[in-house]
Amino acid sequence: MSELRSDLEEILEIIWMLTVDENEPTTTFEELYKNLYETKEFSGELTKSLLEELISLKLIDIKDDIHVALSQKGYDRARQIIRAHRLYERLFADVLRIKDDAQIERGACVLEHIIAEDVEETVCTLLGHPTKCPHGRPIPPGLCCERRDSSIASIFTPVTELDIGETGQIAYISSNDNREMDKLLAFGILPGNAVKLHQKMPYNGPIVIQIDQTQVALEKSVADQICVRRIKK
Ligand SMILES: [Zn+2]
Ligand SMILES: [Zn+2]
Repeated sequence: MSELRSDLEEILEIIWMLTVDENEPTTTFEELYKNLYETKEFSGELTKSLLEELISLKLIDIKDDIHVALSQKGYDRARQIIRAHRLYERLFADVLRIKDDAQIERGACVLEHIIAEDVEETVCTLLGHPTKCPHGRPIPPGLCCERRDSSIASIFTPVTELDIGETGQIAYISSNDNREMDKLLAFGILPGNAVKLHQKMPYNGPIVIQIDQTQVALEKSVADQICVRRIKK
């Protein structure tokens, strides 16, 4: 895909968050002006000229002079940037273990504009094809996720993919469900703790894991969200 200036990409990203992330077909000019002013201190003048540029590049569609949506071309572009941004967030948070959210955000914002598809796939595979960013927002999947590439050894793997008897250290849990998270936390299933895969049932049946001396049975769909770092034997 051809190069696009990063300020234009930032706007596509924001339109994505206001529409795709929110399950809304369109956003409004008013919303965009407000959002860009609040998040990036863009003046009305600046936002206006950038939006005009996006229209002339056919990256956004306008409806009734009020509503704004990504065009197909804009959608494809925004999807790539969002995907890169959220993958880099995971990289900073989980692999580099950066705790400061502002620092994670700054890093992801710089790297997202430098999109090389092979690098992005390498990062995705390394991270075990994560489906959510550290803030719980969905990461649009890439081709590597469909293929479940494992040509590069992943640093993280769902606990369900450990060998029976193998132990991993919990890196992150990708659940958005607070009740489910509370339940897992109550069992001591939280980042940093060691977990052993004790038993797997066939046909996507429940999984038994062991934390300390306690064995816990979990639905496979829940256990799949617990990502661990393999501990070298
Ligand atoms: Zn995020
Ligand atoms: Zn992937």
